[in-house]
Amino acid sequence: MTAKNIMKCLKKFGFSSPKELNEFQSLADLLDFKEIWMSIYEYVQEDVEAQKILHKILDNPEAYNEFIDRWTSFFRDALRNPFSKEFRARLHHVAYLHYRNGVRLSVFMAALLKIRDLFMDKLEKTDFLALKANLARFFECLGVMLAEEFYYLSIRDLQKSLWLSERQARFLATLREINFFLSAEDLTERDLAQKFCLAMVENLGLSLAWIGRLKGEKLIFVGGFPEDHPRLKEIPQSLNAFRGNLKPYLEKFLSKEPIVINEVSKNENLGSLREFLQKHGLNSIAVVPIHDEKDLYGALFLYHKEKNYFLPDEIQILQEISRDLSVTFKRLKYQKNLEYKLYIDEITSLPNARGFLRSVEKFFRFNGNKNHKLAIIVTDIVHFSEINQILGHIKGDEILKEIARRLTEFLGREGIVGRVGADEFAVTIKFSFLDELSKYLEKLRQTLSRPFEIEKQNIRLNFGLGVSIWPEHGRSPREILAKASSAVRLVSRTPDGGLMFYEAEKAKTSLAKLNLLSRMEKALKNDELELFFQPKINLDSRSISGFEGLLRWRDKERGIVPPGEFIPVLEESQLMIDVGYKVVEQAADFARKIEKETGNPLKISVNLSVRQLKSGNFALNFLEILKRYSIPVERIELEILETMLLEDEAMAEINRLREAGAALVLDDFGTGYSSFRHLFQLGRIGIKIDRTFLEHVPDQRDHVVMLMALVSMARGMDLNVVAEGLETREQLAFITGLGVDEVQGFYFAPPMPAEEALQFLTSFNPELYFWSRKQN
Ligand code: C2E
Ligand code: CA
Ligand code: CA
Repeated sequence: MTAKNIMKCLKKFGFSSPKELNEFQSLADLLDFKEIWMSIYEYVQEDVEAQKILHKILDNPEAYNEFIDRWTSFFRDALRNPFSKEFRARLHHVAYLHYRNGVRLSVFMAALLKIRDLFMDKLEKTDFLALKANLARFFECLGVMLAEEFYYLSIRDLQKSLWLSERQARFLATLREINFFLSAEDLTERDLAQKFCLAMVENLGLSLAWIGRLKGEKLIFVGGFPEDHPRLKEIPQSLNAFRGNLKPYLEKFLSKEPIVINEVSKNENLGSLREFLQKHGLNSIAVVPIHDEKDLYGALFLYHKEKNYFLPDEIQILQEISRDLSVTFKRLKYQKNLEYKLYIDEITSLPNARGFLRSVEKFFRFNGNKNHKLAIIVTDIVHFSEINQILGHIKGDEILKEIARRLTEFLGREGIVGRVGADEFAVTIKFSFLDELSKYLEKLRQTLSRPFEIEKQNIRLNFGLGVSIWPEHGRSPREILAKASSAVRLVSRTPDGGLMFYEAEKAKTSLAKLNLLSRMEKALKNDELELFFQPKINLDSRSISGFEGLLRWRDKERGIVPPGEFIPVLEESQLMIDVGYKVVEQAADFARKIEKETGNPLKISVNLSVRQLKSGNFALNFLEILKRYSIPVERIELEILETMLLEDEAMAEINRLREAGAALVLDDFGTGYSSFRHLFQLGRIGIKIDRTFLEHVPDQRDHVVMLMALVSMARGMDLNVVAEGLETREQLAFITGLGVDEVQGFYFAPPMPAEEALQFLTSFNPELYFWSRKQN
């Protein structure tokens, strides 16, 4: 195993975060290895080769137990540190043991695949897609590493026993290795061809290898390596291309004989093709038909840069492998037929719901932990059952087929599509930013709204689109599909259709909201979100006692946007969490600046949203940020809302924050209904009386009474009371007698950028706002 290969494996295996790696490593303690071994034991017992190893341990219980221990610790260590030097030494040893005992690579790999499936089964009941994806990748890497060990062992052996040149040995060993691919289960024809060609090119030093399949008169490209080779863009699409001088080659091919062109530069038959091949350094060619006794399936095309590269006995070996290939391709075709009935919808030939989900699952296995999201979009035709009644079912089916065609064409190779209900289709799209999704949805809508031609008439149909996003709306593909379906049902009841997002709380997100979110995503990235600061004044000392941080968006187009226009939308997305940390950072930065400039350790408060508290590790990250800024915990006050106290998850995080010594303030106090019962539970907390109470004070009697009642209750509990929204001198005079500790409002200052707020602090003169004490 070379360092380069380890890097390749690591990269392929790449975890997206240390947390994922941890999670993965903890599998070593979670899985019941003994149980897995018992199942694998039953499985391999049926194999003659595997028995060669087993019989040595079966008769001897001590050896058997020792074997199980070794087996268990092998996989345990593999999960814990698959790329350590020690582990690689063991890997080598394991390969060596099996190889020495005559276990073929294909059998060995089949057993490994089985072990993988057993491991996967253990995780089946969980929805941890990322974990499953990592496990699948892990086994893929383990397979590659073991195959390589086998490969080198076999080359060495062959060389020794047959007195072969290294090249001959390599050739044979490559073919052995390829047998391993041929026995793998869940490959598509294309995957198989690609892997096959890759192995040929890498091990034999070929310039290019590809496989073509014969379909009538046509030659269809199945797979090749390297995929971007210029020759692959120029391959003949039809057998008719083999005319004139090339005709003898065609006849040879059709009678299933291999063709070797050993010196391209001297071959007159090639005509204009000769120049092209030479230009790309392809100087020897071998074309090996893939066939069995009956049928000609296609051919394997191999190219090498040296002339006279392909030797007759090697061609013979290649002929054998091509026979194996034909068997495998046949098997795949047979499997496909079987699966067809189970997973394919007969009318449209698209995957049905079961098939669709299976493809999405598979997609997750290999892409589940990357940094992107996946949306499932379900489309539904408005009033399809009526259309069906009017036009008849045959015409109705035609519409479905046309939709299937459009969707398939629309997705190209990118997404997965299926017919998941009578008139419901589902498509997937992978994206990183919400604006990608919104553009995509727009295009999808255009595709569907093109008129349908039915009996020479153009008919336009209305569609509903339901969207649900992984990981926001669910963890498993099944869950996301269900949510997209339930979202679409809401819109397709309306005659014009439309777009609907699945959301847990509110079932409404318009495209405008989506656009706003994608702009916010960029705003966050471009540092356009800025915390403004509004001073709080202590009525006793008549000095500034702190600031509240309030978010603003400096939008290039619209100027400064107030939070009321974007916070509610942000709160419906995960983005709120990142924005929240940004707010804490800016508050901490401001606190540090104030202390540096004035020596005054003032408190800065920030507003929290429930989504932040439910993100799982807010307290931890909050403390980490303060540590980074060297700011004591209690210096950044957290303004929370009464509604948060009602949610267990949020409450747990609040308790964690309290234990860590964070200062909490209950914001918008008096607007909720559960106020005092929860206040008792919280212990020491500040309260901030909502600005609606001050609005009509002192003019409206009921507001005055309410305000007085709230303040006196809070005072009775010895809580610090802040009143916000103070706009007039009259309000100030009134409130001063009530026992409020601090006030905040436009009367003193609006929220200001950090620099301005700092200036306000250093030049604050109470005489401008208060009357003299004697006068009072
Ligand atoms: P809030 O926490 O109740 O903040 C007080 C709001 O009252 C602020 O509006 C402030 O500008 C405004 N205000 C201050 N003095 C007066 C006054 O004398 N009269 C009147 N009529 N209003 C006054 P703003 O900045 O537009 O913020 C609105 C709301 O947005 C905040 O209400 C808060 O719920 C939310 N918000 C602001 N920043 C953040 C943030 O960083 N995170 C979260 N989660 N929410 C935020
Ligand atoms: Ca607030
Ligand atoms: Ca408020």
